[in-house]
Amino acid sequence: MKTERRPRSAARRKGKAEQLVLPLDSGPVMQAASLQSGSNGNCIFVEAGGVRLLFDAGITGAETGRRLAALGRTMEDVSAVIISHDHADHMKFAGVYQRKYGLPVYMTHGTRAVAEGMRDLGRLFDVRIFRPGDRLSFGDVTVETMRTPHDAEEGAVFVVACRGRRLGVMTDLGHLFPKLRDTIGTLDAVFLESNYDTDMLMHGPYPAFLKKRIRGHAGHISNHESAELLREGKKLKWACLSHLSEQNNSPAVALKTHRDIVGADLILHTAHRYEATGLFEV
Ligand SMILES: [Zn+2]
Ligand SMILES: [Zn+2]
Repeated sequence: MKTERRPRSAARRKGKAEQLVLPLDSGPVMQAASLQSGSNGNCIFVEAGGVRLLFDAGITGAETGRRLAALGRTMEDVSAVIISHDHADHMKFAGVYQRKYGLPVYMTHGTRAVAEGMRDLGRLFDVRIFRPGDRLSFGDVTVETMRTPHDAEEGAVFVVACRGRRLGVMTDLGHLFPKLRDTIGTLDAVFLESNYDTDMLMHGPYPAFLKKRIRGHAGHISNHESAELLREGKKLKWACLSHLSEQNNSPAVALKTHRDIVGADLILHTAHRYEATGLFEV
């Protein structure tokens, strides 16, 4: 009996594993939207396998609720908020999300250390710590985390994976670090920082120290760098250019640079600084 059972259970296991990876022409597994993106506040919504997550808490709870409602979702449906790093445009309202809507807040040790000194944030009673490199599980959804060289205490970016589909949530990157290059080829879609046009930054009104910080290894990545990375994303169905600077970039300039470098095939969206995008499918 044993020898008969083994092949059957192996076949069952194999069948189950195969079901986890959908064929390319099957329907979407994830839906995602940028609720707002840029130095005035960031929040990205991702839904997959019945799980709803927010990445960053840089806009008010009320505004987040209004923008989710426009997408047919509510704050009450959200399972957790995951904070990328300790800059105010990414975590200022994490305390409100938690106290008003009961969301657990995921952050690194380094981010929490800074959060404890931020008076605006208020009290956090349910902080779940992760180390960059950890995988967070929410039902069928896995969130892979990786450390960034951005000038925060312990910043991270994310890959959301569900049933064989992979979505990157990647802003405030510092520079094109090796792990980013390793990962881009595995993604089906990505929200990717495209912060500045180099000419606009260099000829713009920012003081020299700020120009240096933005261009430096711990600042932000340019349209050109973002496009160079996307060119390596052979599986990508779409990219949403994110965290665009108001002074040193524009959606039209960012899109043109990307078209010149990436070509015509990749679907490109831009995330707005003052409003939500629609829901994109993965
Ligand atoms: Zn930022
Ligand atoms: Zn930042």
